[in-house]
Amino acid sequence: MSDTAVLWFRRDLRLADHAALLSAADTGDEVLALFVLDDRLLAPSGSPRLRFLDGCLRELDERLDGRLLIRRGDPAEVLADTARRVGATAVHISADAGPYGRDRDAAVAKSLAAHDVELVTSGSPYAVAPGRVRKADGEPYRVFTPFRRAWEAHGWRAPADTGPESVRWLVPPRGLADAFPETADDGHRLPDPGEAAALRAWAAFRDGPLAGYERSRDRPDLAGTSRLSAYLRFGCLHPRTLLADLAAGESRTSVGESRTLVGESRASVDRDREAVAAPDKARAVYRSELAWREFYADVLWHQPRTARGNVDRRFDALPTEDDESARGRFRTWCAGRTGYPVVDAGMRQLLAEGWMHNRVRMVVASFLVKDLHLPWWWGARHFMSHLVDGDLASNQHGWQWTAGCGTDAAPYYRIFNPTTQGERFDPDGDY
Ligand code: FAD
Repeated sequence: MSDTAVLWFRRDLRLADHAALLSAADTGDEVLALFVLDDRLLAPSGSPRLRFLDGCLRELDERLDGRLLIRRGDPAEVLADTARRVGATAVHISADAGPYGRDRDAAVAKSLAAHDVELVTSGSPYAVAPGRVRKADGEPYRVFTPFRRAWEAHGWRAPADTGPESVRWLVPPRGLADAFPETADDGHRLPDPGEAAALRAWAAFRDGPLAGYERSRDRPDLAGTSRLSAYLRFGCLHPRTLLADLAAGESRTSVGESRTLVGESRASVDRDREAVAAPDKARAVYRSELAWREFYADVLWHQPRTARGNVDRRFDALPTEDDESARGRFRTWCAGRTGYPVVDAGMRQLLAEGWMHNRVRMVVASFLVKDLHLPWWWGARHFMSHLVDGDLASNQHGWQWTAGCGTDAAPYYRIFNPTTQGERFDPDGDY
């Protein structure tokens, strides 16, 4: 009898560089591709993320010749039922580092175990799994720069050598599929969804703006950043793919990449990679930005409560305003009508594109907390309902960093002056 494995896609909507896919293909003669529509995750997602997710799933399904099974329900029940119907002995996943995902996966593992099905975890959405980079005494890092250094010294695996050809995808049993829920189109101009679009966006950035990244990344009036955040959020590409490209052809011993941890030969991966034209400095800065994403995931992994509460608990005692006047100021901020050009342009970019430039995210967040005296979590919630790249770890900790109650080493009273920030980073007012 042939062995069947289930590959449960979550934040890894791609076929290339996919450790869990490799593991599923190794153990199963045939692999069933599954995505579960989980209302507990769908409900808080705003329309930009839902529409983008829908597009990514359609693209994945096309790549799989229509063999992606989409089911709706409680993952613990859906996984057990699906595994039973296809006679699977194992379900393969990439790890989820968020608080809800970890609890959900524990519940799924338990429900599968009751049917003698194993839940196998391989890889994660990060170059280094959250929780792994630690100080010599085993304690987690609380500040970014030492974390980044330790992260680079730790290194990461080479990209996994996977692709559509290497797997026999099972045709899903009839009658199980559910439709993606109807999602309102609020008119946001979103990036093209899916893995092919992600790789195209990366190639265009790598061969173009990356060269000047360290100078232009703070300028919202220029197209100087990669705009890969939504693709990374949904795993349309893996950060290791980017890190391997950055390291290819680097003039000094490459950071992190020098440690190859995976069975796949590093040399064969490198042979396929073209030298990247950007200078070392630009690559190092870009790698450091990817490290922020890893750092925040690590902080959340160690302290799940910081998804909702202050990292620095001394700030729990800080009074915040939530009366009618505060709510009025909040509405003005949300609509982009504060009267401060760079703040208003940022808030309107969020409404129009479901995305905002990083520099402006810091300015509008600082403005909400330190000028309007409103709770950071009001702003964080507004961001999460509009951002196409909305990610619990990066968003909640990006907000707390700016509010001063998070991981920032600078004192809490540092304020981004919305006028001078505009003059400095958008000198002609083009943004
Ligand atoms: P690039 O400059 O091209 O950077 C490449 C990648 O590095 C990004 O795609 C992202 O994955 C990562 N990255 C860069 N800067 C940061 C950072 N400061 N923190 C974490 N990761 C980073 N990013 C999200 O992905 N989701 C969020 O919900 C989110 N919310 C934020 C909220 C606030 C208040 C702030 C200040 C920042 C937030 N960020 C968030 C981080 C950052 O603004 C975005 O990742 C970045 O603007 C995405 O654009 P890009 O892909 O062109 O970035």
